[in-house]
Amino acid sequence: MHGRLDGPEKQRTDIRRTGIRCVNQSAGHQDAAGRLLAWYDRHRRDLPWRAPPFCPPDPYRVWLSEIMLQQTTVAAVEAYFRRFVARWPNLEALARAELDEVLHAWQGLGYYARARNLHKCAKTLVREHGGRFPDREEALRALPGIGVYTAAAIAAIAFDRPATAVDGNVERVVARLFAVEQELPRAKPALRRLAAGLTPHARPGDYAQAMMDLGATVCTPKSPGCGYCPLAGDCAALRAGTAADLPRRETRAARPIRYGIAFWTTRPDGAVLLRRRPESGLLGGMMEIPSTDWRDTRSGRRVLADAPAQADWQPMPGGVSHTFTHFRLELEIVSGVVKDWRRVAGVWTPVARLGEHALPSVMKKVVRHALAHSAG
Ligand code: SF4
Repeated sequence: MHGRLDGPEKQRTDIRRTGIRCVNQSAGHQDAAGRLLAWYDRHRRDLPWRAPPFCPPDPYRVWLSEIMLQQTTVAAVEAYFRRFVARWPNLEALARAELDEVLHAWQGLGYYARARNLHKCAKTLVREHGGRFPDREEALRALPGIGVYTAAAIAAIAFDRPATAVDGNVERVVARLFAVEQELPRAKPALRRLAAGLTPHARPGDYAQAMMDLGATVCTPKSPGCGYCPLAGDCAALRAGTAADLPRRETRAARPIRYGIAFWTTRPDGAVLLRRRPESGLLGGMMEIPSTDWRDTRSGRRVLADAPAQADWQPMPGGVSHTFTHFRLELEIVSGVVKDWRRVAGVWTPVARLGEHALPSVMKKVVRHALAHSAG
């Protein structure tokens, strides 16, 4: 078992060029990758998408897990992953599925654009690549929903290419190993270069997973377990006593607030109007309770011009608040009964069947609120 650091001199040059202060960079880093791989062989996590030792990985499972794991945790993903592969065991099966089925199975994982791209990617691979994943980062990046990180993760884990997948976990480990004081997000390019310099040519797929495991189980955000870390002897932050403080981050501006009105639109028989959101943009392609655009200021009743139909719109008490990554949304809810409902575009759904649609969390809140405040 061995590993190597590519050109510590080059890394020192990178550090000088980027202005990053690296407390120390010992010769022991030479064997860091080897130590990490030896640790991984003993302590690797048993995950449902991971191939057992000495078995070739299944690129489909690697890809699916990496898309699911974006922005969420292993614990949250495991059950979804098992359900997906039980229902769609390979690319061809997923490519044949209806988008709505996929969105529905995705419900609760959030960031629905990922589910739409997952489906689009499966179709593209079957149609244009004979149902096989390309094994190079560049070709992977050309596929729907596969960005820099995911392409590197698939190339490394599924095809054992010496690609460097840098997510938040890896950024944290590298920032500590090299005691990088520059704040995120500005430090990202330098952390990426430092991480790339650590990637060995031997077993790069295992190495990528070892870094992920180390970040998730040992080099954790608040209280890193330096006492049992295989890289303790290489770690500049541990020597400097700054491990728990790194990586440093620029203080975030408060989340802005956006406002909108949701239209709880019913027929005389009680069925509720749902509408599909545009394919692009936030919650793209998801079903919704029709709403206005989400704006920076409250719009008042003039936005009733955006209502999906003519009705005597009445405000409901209270409202719904939902936090997205980049803003908080405050939705008022108005209700109205539409008599001339046959001319209205959308899907009329009995209340008892609303659960059959892939409604995002914010719209589920609207439904709960509206049902709690509906007369009768
Ligand atoms: S020694 Fe501590 S801070 Fe350094 S990499 Fe290991 S767990 Fe992280």
